[in-house]
Amino acid sequence: MNEALARAVRDRTEDLVALCVDLIRFPTINPPGEAYGPCAEFVGAWLSRRGFETSFIRGEGAPGDSDRYPRTNVVARRQGKRPGPTVHFNSHIDVVETGQGWSVDPFAGLVRDGRVYGRGSCDMKGGLAASMIAAEAFIAVYPDYPGAIEISGTVDEESGGFGGVAHLASQGFFSRPRVDHVIIPEPLNKDRICLGHRGVWWAEIETRGRIAHGSMPFLGDSAIRHIGAVLAAFEDELFPALDAKHTRMPVVPEGARRSTLNINSIHGGQTEDFFPGLPAPNVADSCRLVIDRRFLIEEDIQTVKGEVLSILERLKQERPKFDYAVRDLMEVLPLMTERDAPVAEAVARGIREVFAREPDYVISPGTYDQKHIARIGHLHDCVAYGPGILDLAHQPDEWVGIEDMVESAIVMAISLDTLLNGVKP
Ligand SMILES: [Zn+2]
Repeated sequence: MNEALARAVRDRTEDLVALCVDLIRFPTINPPGEAYGPCAEFVGAWLSRRGFETSFIRGEGAPGDSDRYPRTNVVARRQGKRPGPTVHFNSHIDVVETGQGWSVDPFAGLVRDGRVYGRGSCDMKGGLAASMIAAEAFIAVYPDYPGAIEISGTVDEESGGFGGVAHLASQGFFSRPRVDHVIIPEPLNKDRICLGHRGVWWAEIETRGRIAHGSMPFLGDSAIRHIGAVLAAFEDELFPALDAKHTRMPVVPEGARRSTLNINSIHGGQTEDFFPGLPAPNVADSCRLVIDRRFLIEEDIQTVKGEVLSILERLKQERPKFDYAVRDLMEVLPLMTERDAPVAEAVARGIREVFAREPDYVISPGTYDQKHIARIGHLHDCVAYGPGILDLAHQPDEWVGIEDMVESAIVMAISLDTLLNGVKP
């Protein structure tokens, strides 16, 4: 164990808690993207006091960006004394809405029984605070370190990351030679390394019919009944087929170690809130189904789409007047960083030293900002690692454990030691 680093982090426990509390007090709720500017400025000011060069980059033109709700990101860089690689810690500063059921003030940053409570404490201001303290401790122990350390606080992760990491990646912030290794301190539990995520295909399937009077539906053609036929085929064929596809990806929870499909919504016929009173009796001439298909590293997106399209094509042959259109809404390819990638090995060394055990390697069922770093930045030496219990994210009375933050900050500091000082994992 690198005792000097561990001590340097532990000596800063009070600062770590205070930093986490300060971050929680910015109510960075997304949507709409509240208090992004003040929170980013706070992070930037804290880091510039520690010798980081700080820049603020607005995700101009991104969804939700406006003068009232600017998408303000902060990127800070501290150059070392000698040439070497760059290690980047990326955290999102946005949090989801509070929802009901809180017994504490979600934005007070209450400290009680070894925990810090608040919206975003676990997801992921505790992780951001841990990475800031880890960097400060590392710099104190190794003031002449080679390479560079970067820390970013980015927006909109909870709504897709377009004004945040995607925007920065499109400007070269997540590419070589600027950056070599990225750690995303998402709350995945302090002894687990998240290597990536499953793929996503969101699409809208529309069936079309013909409007007619509801008392004589035989004169029209119901788009809703056509969608019913699509759903029946999904139940009979697609769901069992997806269930049978298992993966070598270590996805948690285990139920997600296969392909899944969610029917997000169905919209058909007249809107109910169009006017007060009874709607007019009509045959629906359009029905739309929004699907959320999550897929595995063993599947390619053409096959994933082909499974759905072949069902629709068959229905077109079999079913009179069946007509459809498919619109892609979002595509994200599955990602899995290898366990022997330098950043994964560096974090693994930290976990071994702090917890005297091998890390668990996991894959997230849903995506996070790593997708933009891989696809836009073409940088693949990236993992997610941070404190906080994943299940608490987005829940009422969300909290992060103080000891969890301290221990994961030590793991992060040891990761810096490995990647910058070149200590063998
Ligand atoms: Zn998160």
